[in-house]
Amino acid sequence: MKALCWHGKNDVRYDTVPDPEIEHPRDAIVNVSSCAICGSDLHLYDHFIPAMESGDVLGHEFMGEVMEVGSEVKNLKVGDRVVIPFTIFCGECEQCQRGNYSVCERSNRNKALADKAFGHGGAGLFGYSHLTGGYAGGQAEFVRVTIC
Ligand SMILES: [Zn+2]
Ligand SMILES: [Zn+2]
Repeated sequence: MKALCWHGKNDVRYDTVPDPEIEHPRDAIVNVSSCAICGSDLHLYDHFIPAMESGDVLGHEFMGEVMEVGSEVKNLKVGDRVVIPFTIFCGECEQCQRGNYSVCERSNRNKALADKAFGHGGAGLFGYSHLTGGYAGGQAEFVRVTIC
């Protein structure tokens, strides 16, 4: 697929990258129809936010159509139109149960790194550096959306 990839400060390229695949039974693959560009993307573009890696797919706010769902996904089906916020959350951990989705305890697979950088790491985010889990974003044809 084609995607906008970060390669360094002020260096974003339109690359060909592997199509995303279901990696977890609670994943879905979304065919992206639109993706926002916001001020937070500029923090990546100017490399204000650390822990970006060459080839990271940008785009943290996107929408599209569900193409494929994992075996444990109960609330989505192929063909559904969806809007994806950048925050990834499980809905089950203590913080999610309190409604504090932005500090989900399970979705940031690099939480220890984020704790060091920010004092307290937040949830995983799409398209937003390895401090927030290193998840590929939506400035792409397809995205693996995870419910972790
Ligand atoms: Zn944003
Ligand atoms: Zn959670």
